Amino acid sequence: MNEKLLLAKTGEIYKRYHPLYEQMTSCSICPRKCGINRYKYKGVCGANYRIRIANALLHFGEEPPIVGNSGSGVIFFSGCPMKCIYCQNMGFSQKGIGVELTEKELAFVMLELQRAGAENINLVTASHYTPQVLESLEKAILKGLSLPIVWNTSSYENVEMLKLLDGIVDIYLADIRYVEDDAGLKYSKVPDYWTVAKNALKEMYSQVGAFDGKKGLIMRILVFPSNITNHKKALDFIVTELSPEVPVSIMRQYMPVFGAKNDPLIGRKVMDREYKEIVDYAEKLGINGWIQLDEKQVVPTKSVKTIYQFLRRKVK
Ligand code: SF4
Repeated sequence: MNEKLLLAKTGEIYKRYHPLYEQMTSCSICPRKCGINRYKYKGVCGANYRIRIANALLHFGEEPPIVGNSGSGVIFFSGCPMKCIYCQNMGFSQKGIGVELTEKELAFVMLELQRAGAENINLVTASHYTPQVLESLEKAILKGLSLPIVWNTSSYENVEMLKLLDGIVDIYLADIRYVEDDAGLKYSKVPDYWTVAKNALKEMYSQVGAFDGKKGLIMRILVFPSNITNHKKALDFIVTELSPEVPVSIMRQYMPVFGAKNDPLIGRKVMDREYKEIVDYAEKLGINGWIQLDEKQVVPTKSVKTIYQFLRRKVK
């Protein structure tokens, strides 16, 4: 019996998520710890106690081992504890667009992604739904879900919540957005991004180690304009505090949209020479991973008919 099925069958997953439903009456699920009663209101993340997703489909724009041959089974969750002024998913991350699902329905979506040939279940910014996602995973695993689970995260995560994912999440796909709390406050309206994220990253690494082709931690650096020194610090952190074996995806699709448009520092695209300087530095540190040759904006995806029809029916 695989480890996840054992955790589900023995009631271990239930033990992990069950108390969290009570915790949502004065919510401290994410580092915001905003204390809202999610059975009555929405928290700072924009979520109440119900799961809300924007979409679920096969995605071909992630890193090559995540995409594999048949695409990553991505689930985009609505709401987010971070409020990034440049967020390209503003519609669902901050404006709440999405469809409400029960835990049983989210389990169905996961199983349909598996049936459609997805390489993995890729949970994008799910931390504010940790209890509901764990319950959905338990249900799906008991019904035959056997794909690797990817936790796709900004790294603004509570360590105590991450511990509940141990043995369930196979791959952490984790950003370092900023290496100073001030930048997190300015651009994502969280007061303690780096204080929180560095501990979260250490916890992720301690659970799964460096990505080995099947399991482990993959780091992502979204390159911002005018930010070379900080990106270098992020790479230094990966090498010295995690491991030089952790692969890094150096991303260059940043676009100065929404509140970032007129910002004096990040109100423009990344220059070729800025991107190259980060890539060269990573190479000098002996880091492996992936780079992006252009600012790819159109990401190839493929919908799954049964999920599409199911979500359509929920919208009506
Ligand atoms: S998950 Fe949402 S409701 Fe809970 S503490 Fe974070 S922001 Fe507040």
